[in-house]
Amino acid sequence: MRKAALTVDTWELARLGQEQQGDAPLAGFSRLLEGLPEQTDHVVNWSVTGETNALGQRFMVLQAQVDVTLECQRCLSMFDYPLQTENRLQLVETEAEIEAEEAGEDDPDTPDHLLGSSFFDVLTLVEDELILALPYVPKHEVCPSLPQELETSEGSDTGRPSPFAVLAELKKD
Ligand SMILES: [Zn+2]
Repeated sequence: MRKAALTVDTWELARLGQEQQGDAPLAGFSRLLEGLPEQTDHVVNWSVTGETNALGQRFMVLQAQVDVTLECQRCLSMFDYPLQTENRLQLVETEAEIEAEEAGEDDPDTPDHLLGSSFFDVLTLVEDELILALPYVPKHEVCPSLPQELETSEGSDTGRPSPFAVLAELKKD
């Protein structure tokens, strides 16, 4: 399944300070899904918001989120991880400006540069950013397997009388 191409006009978004948002089925994000376990029908929610600052610099803030099924590397069970990303990118008009930024690269606070376009392929950027947000070693914050086992064994105990209760009954006679 390929995701449908979806374009936005980054210059218009920045000029008008507009937001555009949408949903796309996770199944279409084949690069993101490479190497991940089988997924259920999750949906990627995304939005892009344009900005122009007082200096005339143009930006686009991209946000995206989706629940992805990952395998916990501690207990090896599958769990849904709330994958989300937000990045503020400075829009530039030429590849040369991107190269200049990469050559400089001394200020970590400088936003990443992005080549703007009137027909910008937004879902490819969404996919790139989500890939960067994937955890290297996915893990539950607290693995549920151990507490669950304790709970079920405790639960099954309540169904039958404890040996002490049985003894107490015998002593009554
Ligand atoms: Zn786990």
